[in-house]
Amino acid sequence: MPDRTAAIKDTLERYPCPGCNAQLSFVPSTQELDCAHCGTRIPIDKGRDRISEQALRAQLDQPYPIAVPVTQYIYTCNRCSASNTFSTEIPTFTCQACQFAVVNPDAFRTREVQPAGILPFVVDQAEALSTYQQWIGKGLWQPGKLKTVARADLLQGCYLPFWTFDAQTDSDWSGYAGTYYWDTEYYTDSEGKRQSRSVRKTRWTYRSGNYRHLFDDVLVGGSNLLSQEECAAVFPFDLSAAVNFSAAFLAGWIADVADIGLADGYSLAEAIMKQDIYEACAHLCRDDEYRDLEVETRYTDQTYKHLLLPLWICSYLYKQKTYHFLINGQTGKIYGKKPVSAGKVVLAILLVLLVILLIVLIANSGGE
Ligand SMILES: [Zn+2]
Ligand SMILES: [Zn+2]
Repeated sequence: MPDRTAAIKDTLERYPCPGCNAQLSFVPSTQELDCAHCGTRIPIDKGRDRISEQALRAQLDQPYPIAVPVTQYIYTCNRCSASNTFSTEIPTFTCQACQFAVVNPDAFRTREVQPAGILPFVVDQAEALSTYQQWIGKGLWQPGKLKTVARADLLQGCYLPFWTFDAQTDSDWSGYAGTYYWDTEYYTDSEGKRQSRSVRKTRWTYRSGNYRHLFDDVLVGGSNLLSQEECAAVFPFDLSAAVNFSAAFLAGWIADVADIGLADGYSLAEAIMKQDIYEACAHLCRDDEYRDLEVETRYTDQTYKHLLLPLWICSYLYKQKTYHFLINGQTGKIYGKKPVSAGKVVLAILLVLLVILLIVLIANSGGE
């Protein structure tokens, strides 16, 4: 194993400050590598030329061989000589002895497709923490203890893998449009008198047509850490701000490789497109309502991009259940589910019942 260890070590990136040798980190407010110790700043190239749409079919038909196998390596820290074991598929880690951050850009090469671009963090930790504390403080139902988990060390700035897809779609649709009209109906009431009433009816008309739509940047999460619903809850991202991927952006941060591959990512995107197309066709078909809508879609010119996007993530365990709290690292949009305190809910229900009981009692006493 020592020879392979030597081979991987060459590809690891460390960012010591040229002025004082302390840790350089990517800083959202400056968009540079900054030294918190002596103030040295090092700009990062923010070119965009390597982010381009790639043909999906060509990639899926001819998958590239995986360049780096997933395995464990021993890394001997070049600052403190401590030995660290790390997996080749982990893009970022810190020396367990001296906490110096190490970036392993080769981690992405344990996957079929490497990220072309990255959206650098804009929201820094102080901002993320204050957003989190405001959100946690608002809840009426959450247990009081929850506030104690609003700590900086539980909020992690993480670059997660995402796929974006473009596609030209061409759909033939057919169905029945329902138009409401009012008809007069006659009936005999309980006293034997003939009465009339207005009744709403629906006239069905067959309709068909063609719908073409060019989808641009349908975004799908590539990490199993978050569900697609959780990811979508902090969309949108302004992807036009993405720059060429560079390991330097990961300095001092956490990153993940894709768990969901290109083919599965595309399936998820196609499901999103299919749903959008169905809704658009339903809109074209319907009058007051619609039924039996059938849509047949051809997808062509599919392209993809693989990007790393910034998220602040807080995962906390409350009564054996994991809760996620997310902040979009570019826009600051938040999403989270709070645990509900059973005690507070029971108290509220009892209060409501008490009020109802009082109203009934007052009404009854007034009526007598
Ligand atoms: Zn320094
Ligand atoms: Zn070390």
